[in-house]
Amino acid sequence: MNGPVRLSFGRTRSVCPECLKTIPAERVAIGDTVYLDKTCPEHGRVVTPVWRGLRSYDIWSRSRRNTASPVTVATVVAEGCPRDCGLCADHRQQSCCVLIDVTSRCDLVCPVCFASADRHGVDMPIDEIATTLDALRAGSGQVHVQLSGGEPTVRDDLPEIVALVRAKGFDFVQLNTNGIRIGREPNYLAALADAGLDCVFLQFDGVSDAVYRRLRGRDLFAAKRLAIESARAAGIGVVLVPTLVPGVNTDEIGAIVDFAKGEMPTVRAVHFQPVSYFGRCPEAPHDEDRITLPEVMQALIEHSQGTIRLEDFSPGSAENPFCSFSGRFTVDPSGLFVADPEPVSGGCCGSAAGEAAAEGSCCGTASGRSPEVARAQRYVAGQWKSALSDETPASGLEAFDAFLERQGRRLSLSAMAFQDAWTLDLDRLRQCYIHVAKSDGRAIPFCAYNLTDLDGRSLYREPST
Ligand code: SF4
Ligand code: SF4
Ligand code: SF4
Repeated sequence: MNGPVRLSFGRTRSVCPECLKTIPAERVAIGDTVYLDKTCPEHGRVVTPVWRGLRSYDIWSRSRRNTASPVTVATVVAEGCPRDCGLCADHRQQSCCVLIDVTSRCDLVCPVCFASADRHGVDMPIDEIATTLDALRAGSGQVHVQLSGGEPTVRDDLPEIVALVRAKGFDFVQLNTNGIRIGREPNYLAALADAGLDCVFLQFDGVSDAVYRRLRGRDLFAAKRLAIESARAAGIGVVLVPTLVPGVNTDEIGAIVDFAKGEMPTVRAVHFQPVSYFGRCPEAPHDEDRITLPEVMQALIEHSQGTIRLEDFSPGSAENPFCSFSGRFTVDPSGLFVADPEPVSGGCCGSAAGEAAAEGSCCGTASGRSPEVARAQRYVAGQWKSALSDETPASGLEAFDAFLERQGRRLSLSAMAFQDAWTLDLDRLRQCYIHVAKSDGRAIPFCAYNLTDLDGRSLYREPST
């Protein structure tokens, strides 16, 4: 009897979820699903769904791969990917957004947490943060900095840290937070804003407490609303960041988008993160525990009353296309979405006053900057900051008002599919542009940094206590 038809979409390398040994892998389509199929000589075969939807897979496959060499190589190629981070000479993209884990402590103990954070842990000393920032600036140039952890707001000196990031010359600082403290203490967020914070990257898993009880261990919806209220008062843009877990909150995707519309212009974007299984997670995942990017796009399309089409979303352009999607929309007066894609300009890097141009070279090529990374940074800074931020044209009051009005009605919908030990595709990882900075000058691609085996053992992340 014939088995199901298997279509090969090429070979890559991955790791064994049990021992993290690097092993060959193949992308295969069976029916409408693409799987990563690999066999560890010691621990056997693992087949994991990575993309459910061949139509979008075809479109994403045809998008351009914009690779670039690292600005600085910090490690030698020795053991092979993913054990030489980094960045090593084999990496194929530069740093765009770089995380600094300022603490491993947290005021929550979520059942699902890739940092495995809890109430105990350590703070990175402020002089080590300064060293890390210096090394980052010297090695990677102008990057976006995300203060992360653990939960950064457990630190009373966070405003000092934000000011330090600014003083070291970084243009964009965002805070990755569960929102509890900034909601409870608006003055704390105001102090962060005064110190130069641009954006709050807010853990926001749904619009019902049932979701928060399952994913975060307690009722938190009211706390999330308070956090957004504080951000409104402080004039800081908010990105809602739902971790999507099948059977827990995937049926709230539309409700999260509706909530975001109601909180515009403070809420600037929704950035979905399909759950990935690293760090603290209850058990080894089954196929039905995964939601893939095309399923998120489909949920958004179905909820939009015909106003969003697949063509309104684009693959990642600086990162590997299969890492993400994004789309920008304007909300019309009746509350419906109208696609509002970024203009593609023939000018310098798509922007007459582009960041790279400001550095004195068109597209940053003379200074070794990747034009796609510079473009991604401009997009994030333009869309994720407050609509009232200073990134506005100054050509007359009417133009300024129209600009503000337009900015205030724009919402970005995007997602990134982090890779765990089951789904890791080293072709994707080598093009990663989201990195974690270490004080010794290493920048470790995010999915390598968080990679853990079945027993929670990590290649790079240090234990939190
Ligand atoms: S992920 Fe990049 S930096 Fe890390 S080992 Fe692979 S190629 Fe090198
Ligand atoms: S997921 Fe975030 S909020 Fe939850 S324990 Fe981990 S660091 Fe804390
Ligand atoms: S963090 Fe992971 S999913 Fe995101 S760009 Fe890097 S490799 Fe891709």
